[in-house]
Amino acid sequence: MVAEPCPLPSWDKTPGEPPAPVASLSESLRADAVVIGAGITGSSTALHLARSGKQVVQLEAREPGWGASGRAYGNVVPVSKHDERRIEQFYGHQRGRRLNEALAAGPEVVRGLLAEFRIGALYHGGGWLLAAHTPRADADLQRRALRHAGAGDAIAYHDAHETSELSGTDFYRGSLVDRRALAVNSLAYSQGLARAARQVGVGQFCNSPVTRIERSDGAGWRASTRGGEVVADTVLICTNAYSNGLWPNLSRTVVPVRGYSAITGPFEDGALDGVLPYGHFLTDTRHLWSGIRKVPGNRLHVGAGGPPLREPARADLAGATRRLQMVYPQLGDIEWEEHWSGWVALTGNQLPKILRLDDGVWAALGYSGRGLSFATLLGRELAKLADGADRDEAILPVEDMRPLPFHALTPFVAAACIKYYEALDRWSVWRYGRGSGRNPNYAFRSR
Ligand SMILES: Cc1cc2nc3c(=O)[nH]c(=O)nc-3n(C[C@H](O)[C@H](O)[C@H](O)COP(=O)(O)OP(=O)(O)OC[C@H]3O[C@@H](n4cnc5c(N)ncnc54)[C@H](O)[C@@H]3O)c2cc1C
Repeated sequence: MVAEPCPLPSWDKTPGEPPAPVASLSESLRADAVVIGAGITGSSTALHLARSGKQVVQLEAREPGWGASGRAYGNVVPVSKHDERRIEQFYGHQRGRRLNEALAAGPEVVRGLLAEFRIGALYHGGGWLLAAHTPRADADLQRRALRHAGAGDAIAYHDAHETSELSGTDFYRGSLVDRRALAVNSLAYSQGLARAARQVGVGQFCNSPVTRIERSDGAGWRASTRGGEVVADTVLICTNAYSNGLWPNLSRTVVPVRGYSAITGPFEDGALDGVLPYGHFLTDTRHLWSGIRKVPGNRLHVGAGGPPLREPARADLAGATRRLQMVYPQLGDIEWEEHWSGWVALTGNQLPKILRLDDGVWAALGYSGRGLSFATLLGRELAKLADGADRDEAILPVEDMRPLPFHALTPFVAAACIKYYEALDRWSVWRYGRGSGRNPNYAFRSR
């Protein structure tokens, strides 16, 4: 698997999941299906397959949640990186609509799993506050709200005044609140989902990197680790950005870049009362790293920037401090308690793929930073496909593998794009990002 130099986050000291079994595979097993990887895709696949009556073995290189799933920021949103109309342009009306409906219901699917398996990963709050930092972005949010007019009070537009009440800052021009979205501790979610898979009968082995997949002499496939092997009719590869040479060229279908998160130290009692007072999680219409949310222990959790390609790499905490103080000037000095990073798998169109790699070999990957709900859904889709479902019924088209051309160069292209978006964000904040003018810290400039 791909190297991961950064440990998993440890800031949340509330009692979490009991530790996963650390036993590695040391025998030869026969199963209906072998699932490789115990992130959210892998555990959702294993769980849903076992529920349909299949004998499933799941092999994880390290421990559940070790990849992006345990490092994610934790926003479970009901949309992909593109709006609903764009999705219909990509996939056509019928499949696009089906995908949009599935995505819209994604957080509810996650909520259902959290409740059913008593996974204590959910933070209570008012949903997702997507705030506009420019007049143009504000107009865009108003248009989006109109398109969702039928959604009742699940999605609502708020003007600058209301946004100021909801967010606790005058930095923004308007906002959209989406109450369907959830905020979770993603490490607790991915570990809980792995436990749920074990509970429904999945044989799970950790510290068992799969080193080879080959056709078995009898029927099906053999997945080998250093200490054992699993022979199965179906192989489901759920290794996302952590894929390496296990299946030829699979890792060349995505571009791995580092994503970062950071947690502040505890603030004094009352210091955060005015920040996101209704418990929303905030992102804004800048292109990069804008997430801010309150988490237990009187702390703030933010998305951060950092070197996109290098490892080991450090989050840009000075940049995160500037961003936080720009939106909430009342916070004063910021102390950081912990920061971490992980690999995000980007695709050309920022949408994941379901791939059929061979007879009985499937993969889903490339969530482009929007995987908590999507990976849960695609795990369910992979399970259906492995169980013989019609591939035309899947929420994404089932594709053959097509490695990205000039793949070795793509990380540098991604890094250049990130630099470009950073510059664009800086310019838009300089030009417009002074809020609605209600806060004396933001001198409103007439134009
Ligand atoms: C910093 C950061 C913030 C993010 N924030 C969000 C967010 O707020 N909301 C959101 O929706 N998405 C977010 N994402 C994206 C999201 O985390 C991922 O899309 C999602 O977790 C992918 O899940 P996965 O199971 O496909 O892959 P992963 O969680 O990466 O799991 C892959 C697993 O495969 C294992 N593996 C690899 N090779 C082998 C092998 N040879 N044998 C056995 N096992 C192997 C790895 O150890 C790993 O556990 C974020 C990602 C990062 C890095």
